[in-house]
Amino acid sequence: MATKKLTNKQKNWIKQHPILTVLLVAALIVGSYFLGLWDFDIPGSDIPVITPTAEVSGKLQVHYIDVGQADSILIIAPTGETMLIDAGASNDKDVRAVKGADYLINYLKSHGVTKLDYLMLTHPHSDHIASADEVIAAYAGKIGTILLSDDESSGWSTVAKAMQKAGETYDLCSCGETYRLGECTFKILGPVDSSVFDDSERNHYSIVCRLTFGETSFMFTGDAETVTESAILKKFKASDLKSDVLKVGHHGSTTSSSASFLNAVGADLAVICVGSENGYGHPHDKIVDRLTEKGYQILRTDKEGTIVLVSDGKSVSRLK
Ligand SMILES: [Zn+2]
Repeated sequence: MATKKLTNKQKNWIKQHPILTVLLVAALIVGSYFLGLWDFDIPGSDIPVITPTAEVSGKLQVHYIDVGQADSILIIAPTGETMLIDAGASNDKDVRAVKGADYLINYLKSHGVTKLDYLMLTHPHSDHIASADEVIAAYAGKIGTILLSDDESSGWSTVAKAMQKAGETYDLCSCGETYRLGECTFKILGPVDSSVFDDSERNHYSIVCRLTFGETSFMFTGDAETVTESAILKKFKASDLKSDVLKVGHHGSTTSSSASFLNAVGADLAVICVGSENGYGHPHDKIVDRLTEKGYQILRTDKEGTIVLVSDGKSVSRLK
């Protein structure tokens, strides 16, 4: 670009009026900017700013945490109360190393969880409780209530030791009982009668509960199988079961999700907590087809990673 040299007359004027010169140059720079003569190019400036903190403020959050072929669901009530349903880690050793207790505890802490108002352990299988001992140790003295459905299974030994060490105790929940979590409530629907089960059928001990906030509701099923679903259908009325979101029982296995249970829950969304390429063939095609036929939109942690749903009390949406 060609430049034009200043004349001696111009140089003398600048020497005599230094402040005025600075002001004139500044006015030229500012003026040209507002006239659009500058072409700013800030890298990344066209990327939309996402503010999850603002989006979830005052809302219920349900985090279906991707822990591989296992369950860990974090619930944060609109006023900050928290509940963790299960603290699983995958049976797959490679996945467990990546998504075991450290991963889960880091997830909780990175989402501001400083205390657990409830820790619900649905049943004593490792894909639901493998990280429970370390979660209990990490939140020792800061857990409101630990909820179990039985305390006789031999599967609880590691959890029992962790509770003793942390000075935490547990409550046995009973079918039909309702608990408060801030502005939300959750009702225990199953197991209906755990006394009929034995240690070899631990899935039958699974706690089934339905959480409600305003007009919205979420069904959590652990690994409850069709025998429990049938008992629930017999015991409870339709309004106790109808939900907006269903956590699909037993990772989408054919042992669960009977047509009549899916009809009764009648949710729009089905979340399947499942690990990619798991050795169980979960979720089973038959269950995926059944959910689709019944009008459920399916979200899977193996395909989507952690899934976070939020409710404002009127409708449920997904946090990106
Ligand atoms: Zn399971």
